[in-house]
Amino acid sequence: MFGLELLKKGVIWRVGNGKQIKIWRHAWLPKPHSLRPGKSKRPCRLKWVHQLIDEETRSWKEDLLRRFFHQFGVEEIMKLKIPGQEREDMTAWYYEKTGMFTVRSAYHLGVKMKELEEGQTSCSANPDGARPAWKKLWKLPVPHKVCIFAWKLIHGGLATKYNKHKRKIVQDGVCDLCGSFVESEHHAVVSCDHAASLREAMRKIWELPSEANLTFSGPEWLLLLIDREKPEVAARLLLILWRAWFVRNELTHGGRWIPMERSISFLSSYWDTLVNIKLGGPDDLNGKAPVQRSLPPTVRQAPAKCSWKAPEIGWIKINVDGAFSEASGEAGIGVIIRNHLGQVILSAWKYIDGGGSAEKVEALACREGLTLAADWSPSPAIVESDCAAVIKYLTSPESQRSPSTFIIQEALEEAGKLPAVKFRHESRVQNGVAHELAHMAKRLRHSAVWRERVPDCVEQLYAQDVNSSII
Ligand SMILES: [Zn+2]
Repeated sequence: MFGLELLKKGVIWRVGNGKQIKIWRHAWLPKPHSLRPGKSKRPCRLKWVHQLIDEETRSWKEDLLRRFFHQFGVEEIMKLKIPGQEREDMTAWYYEKTGMFTVRSAYHLGVKMKELEEGQTSCSANPDGARPAWKKLWKLPVPHKVCIFAWKLIHGGLATKYNKHKRKIVQDGVCDLCGSFVESEHHAVVSCDHAASLREAMRKIWELPSEANLTFSGPEWLLLLIDREKPEVAARLLLILWRAWFVRNELTHGGRWIPMERSISFLSSYWDTLVNIKLGGPDDLNGKAPVQRSLPPTVRQAPAKCSWKAPEIGWIKINVDGAFSEASGEAGIGVIIRNHLGQVILSAWKYIDGGGSAEKVEALACREGLTLAADWSPSPAIVESDCAAVIKYLTSPESQRSPSTFIIQEALEEAGKLPAVKFRHESRVQNGVAHELAHMAKRLRHSAVWRERVPDCVEQLYAQDVNSSII
């Protein structure tokens, strides 16, 4: 795949006012594989994305989404925040964080697509080479029920829509979750949107087989994969597939949707439990290697010594930070604005439910800091964040079309209300107070703006800043 065709695969719309984006034809959902919503749940006459947006509240019309989109699609759309003011939609390149097209990422995408195409034919040539793999499967460090699930999966024994259709139990074999494809075993636990997204999220914390190795290469694709991979890697993959099947069943049978965040935290803690059992359990005596701890222990770092620098006379300094939890989707932002003597002009923190991503939350923190400064102080300002990407976007906005692009635009408009603004990337050490405020907001689910003082929990950090900046 080359040229224009390839380019089309990687272009995504960023939703501004939604007037240029066709709901069912354009790519506008940042999810792996298709970037498009699947087929609608029921016949739908709506054509444009703006028809799904409530102009007054500048939010999604959730009832419409629920009527026409499958559950997973609704979740993904709700994560996209509509800009507070009318903005033109824009296109961006999905495969770079900045949203700008690069030859390098297009090349990688081309290679990946080729691998996916080839992967579908190359492995099936050798279906019998995998016999010893069965032994390996039963020895994987997962509960027996998970091995049985894998065994059924390989033998085509799960109650998928395709299997039910074959036995004439249901009318068609189409997947109820995405509405787009026949629900085979492979589709249900690997390629359906919800399964692919869960895997993508888990990939950030676990080592997993590459996506090219997860294509359907014949009924024994999973067995061949187990044979190739390290036991821990194969075990974690099985747990993810098993969970995807559970999520699918809960929705199909119980009508209960389990958000992805719940699955992420379930899997992480389940694995930790397995590791602990394995480390201390009788299996050790059988000569099985204990499973390595997959997640580094969470070490709460003691606040480092701050070396915050006061701005020049006449300037203010806005320190901002964001805190985001991948597992719950919850976020907090922290802002502290100080003058050249280190005196607090204001401190603020804000809880955000559904922050989207760590980077978006950092961008929101910058916007909040600038909005507050524009409201409360007429002075020129320096904005400091420890997020290098967001500072780069703010200093050269024309060379980014990132997922935070509309937040960046809004932040710059707020900056335009101040006499002058400089943006600076600083280390977290220099940004300690904002960092603590952001975490406090997230932890307590609380928001507030305080003038001329800081809350007790950052009092000590604040005092250190003042001391170090004056010496
Ligand atoms: Zn599906």
